[in-house]
Amino acid sequence: MKIQFSKEIPVNNQYEVIVVGGGPSGCAAAVAAAREGASVLLLETTGSLGGMGTNGLVPAWCPFSDRTKIIYRGIALEVFNKAKANMKHVKEGDLDWVPIDPEALKRVYDEMILEAGVTVLFHTQVVSVVNELQRISYIVAANKSGITAFQGKVYIDCTGDADIVALAGLSFEYGEEQSYVVQPSTHCFMITNVDEYHYRNSPYLHMSNPDSAAYDIARSDKYPLITDPHCCNSLIGPGTVGFNAGHIWEVDSTDPFSVSKAMIMGRQLAYQYHQGLKEYLPETFGASHLIATASSMGIRESRRIIGEYKITFNDYKERRTFSDEIGRNCYFLDVHHKIDERERILKGESNGEEGWESYSEGESHGIPYRSLIPKEIKNLLVAGRSIACEHIIQGSIRVMPVCLVTGQAAGTAAQLACNTLDVRDIDINQLRIILLRKGAYFE
Ligand SMILES: Cc1cc2nc3c(=O)[nH]c(=O)nc-3n(C[C@H](O)[C@H](O)[C@H](O)COP(=O)(O)OP(=O)(O)OC[C@H]3O[C@@H](n4cnc5c(N)ncnc54)[C@H](O)[C@@H]3O)c2cc1C
Repeated sequence: MKIQFSKEIPVNNQYEVIVVGGGPSGCAAAVAAAREGASVLLLETTGSLGGMGTNGLVPAWCPFSDRTKIIYRGIALEVFNKAKANMKHVKEGDLDWVPIDPEALKRVYDEMILEAGVTVLFHTQVVSVVNELQRISYIVAANKSGITAFQGKVYIDCTGDADIVALAGLSFEYGEEQSYVVQPSTHCFMITNVDEYHYRNSPYLHMSNPDSAAYDIARSDKYPLITDPHCCNSLIGPGTVGFNAGHIWEVDSTDPFSVSKAMIMGRQLAYQYHQGLKEYLPETFGASHLIATASSMGIRESRRIIGEYKITFNDYKERRTFSDEIGRNCYFLDVHHKIDERERILKGESNGEEGWESYSEGESHGIPYRSLIPKEIKNLLVAGRSIACEHIIQGSIRVMPVCLVTGQAAGTAAQLACNTLDVRDIDINQLRIILLRKGAYFE
């Protein structure tokens, strides 16, 4: 059943660039556009910036280097260095799998957007899009003031789920081609009062170690929600360990019913994980406390845009360079295993990492500007985990360093596009020159 709902709503047209979603890609986009001189509004549905890295409690940065040099630079490196400076136990030169203190990271993003002059509206969710003649005229958002239509010149969809693309009625892909299966979700959590000596000096607590407690917990009947040994964890503060552990399959982040069910299951799963850690690693976790589960569900994958260029597995294999590239990526194809692979993993017949193709030292592929441009619309760009690529490539480009890079490129391009009719009409060379000047890396 549907009802017709019509109501006059106020219009706010004070901003040139409107960024939706304040995760890594949205923060980088907003800061980049503002630093180039645009007036920028950033709309975020939660009460803090950082997306999965803060509200999602993801405990570590994926590597910033290709093992010979740093390749995620510009705003990405700025955020990373500022976040790292807050972590006393992290060395200045550390580049790979650096832990994240989520509270400190929230402040880093807050400071950067304020310094750049971005206006942020928290607790504001975009719920509708008005578009005609291949242009977005308004995006409609709901918050405590009610419903407001925001009118900008250029919009950037950094929602992770490509919400703006979907609300505008544009086409998109979802999950794996043919099967539409998305990667499993993980509800991350934090444990305090951990015995640091034993944490540092015990066998590696990770799925790649078949002798780790992660396997004991997953094989035990006492912890029924933990059905596989996925267990990434990092020391994120004194006596405090962040966990990206356990999997919840078949969560559709575009369906609130599905996410709500998963949040409840995730909290129970975290509790069971903690009980299992106390049982199997009493010296490390015996006196510990489960202090928090994430306020946002850990979604690895949902929609991807149909863009002007789709990054393919072939591009990855060929380490391709593009004339319109705005950054490079060297992260491996990190596609978490499907639900029916759990048994083989628990039996020790697979380590769950089959197909995780990776590069040798110094190798990477380019990210073309066209992969940020959704088809059929003139004043919208997309950055972050939903840019145009094949499902297998999304397993790589979805991680935070890459999202920061695509965010900076989208924000810089959006400012240039304020003076054009179409984001395709900007001078790509000018975009690349600005990005290079601002520290970006590409060939
Ligand atoms: C469990 C898990 C573990 C991971 N591990 C790592 C890791 O170890 N290292 C690493 O670097 N990366 C990791 N990643 C990947 C990475 O964290 C995300 O893919 C990345 O944060 C995506 O960035 P984004 O900006 O595209 O989206 P997000 O970080 O998801 O941010 C999107 C933002 O948009 C907001 N939003 C969404 N819809 C709306 C709307 N309609 N209106 C207003 N606001 C909206 C959300 O609240 C959110 O703040 C992991 C991801 C998950 C889920």
